[in-house]
Amino acid sequence: MIVVLKHGVSEEKKAQLIAWLEALGLRIHISDGEFQTVLGLIGDTTTVDIDLVESLEIVDSVKRVTEPFKCCNRKFHPDDMVVEIGDVKVGGGNFVMIAGPCSVESEEQIVTVAKAVKAAGAQLMRGGAFKPRTSPYDFAGLKATGLEFLKIARQETGLPIVTELMNIMDLPLFEDVDVIQVGARNMQNFDLLRELGHLDKPILLKRGLANTLKELLMSAEYIMASGNERVMLCERGIRTFSDYTRNTLDLAAVPMLHQLTHLPVIVDPSHATGIAKLVPPMALAATAGGADGLIIEVHNDPIHALCDGAQSLRPEEFAELAEKIRAVRGVVA
Ligand code: PEP
Ligand code: MN
Repeated sequence: MIVVLKHGVSEEKKAQLIAWLEALGLRIHISDGEFQTVLGLIGDTTTVDIDLVESLEIVDSVKRVTEPFKCCNRKFHPDDMVVEIGDVKVGGGNFVMIAGPCSVESEEQIVTVAKAVKAAGAQLMRGGAFKPRTSPYDFAGLKATGLEFLKIARQETGLPIVTELMNIMDLPLFEDVDVIQVGARNMQNFDLLRELGHLDKPILLKRGLANTLKELLMSAEYIMASGNERVMLCERGIRTFSDYTRNTLDLAAVPMLHQLTHLPVIVDPSHATGIAKLVPPMALAATAGGADGLIIEVHNDPIHALCDGAQSLRPEEFAELAEKIRAVRGVVA
């Protein structure tokens, strides 16, 4: 249920109403927008007398929220959420480019790529240290050493780190990571999501290989309901009957999610297509379609990459693409 307050109500009256609703056993999410304050009521609202609340002098309107997701529902938070990572802002008109290799392979590799993507305009760097791989015989990342190399690259470039956490047990190693990525394969690892909800750190939540938007939002809800509101969603392609591409990029997810939620929506054209040549057109389409940012795989030597070389752009290709992304932003923003 949401309670929209009248414009300009006093803090005292607002606090009185909140205290009364809390006494009914509800948790209240407060969204103070420029023009209105919206109180989101979380919990069993059957005990609330809607007519009574609506009749209060300070209340403009009361609506039931029928969707199962509450904290990430735009009805609870009409204004776009802006996620801040140091000086970098994502959402609410702020566009972010995240770029880097699929996996951290060596100190030299990650530093080289981080410098190149920074020069091209990326604001955050990506690089996996813990890699979910389909085959147990494939390179699974440098783990703790990979995280150390990422920190060196951050020191050299100033770019904050985005990297994937697969297992709660590794969480202590991620203390100094700027953004924790939840990979597609872990989108419904509910214990992991709950744990991430206790952190004061932005989370990049990727859509599962065969998950609906509602399921993606329910996973965001797990993180937010535990207290961490700094969630960014990522559309990275889903399983369909596509035969020539790795996945199918669901671009309509971007405007649909913007309607349903106030969280920023990032698009990953690399995993969505699996083919380097398809990354620029899909990145531009996602930008034109209103994405709040892109996460793109870039490798200095894609042919010899230990993971996802076929979908990785060379630094010069990324630089050329970044230029075009800025041009498209100039038109649609
Ligand atoms: C990745 O970002 O390298 C990755 C494994 O992505 P996804 O979880 O979307 O497959
Ligand atoms: Mn990858």
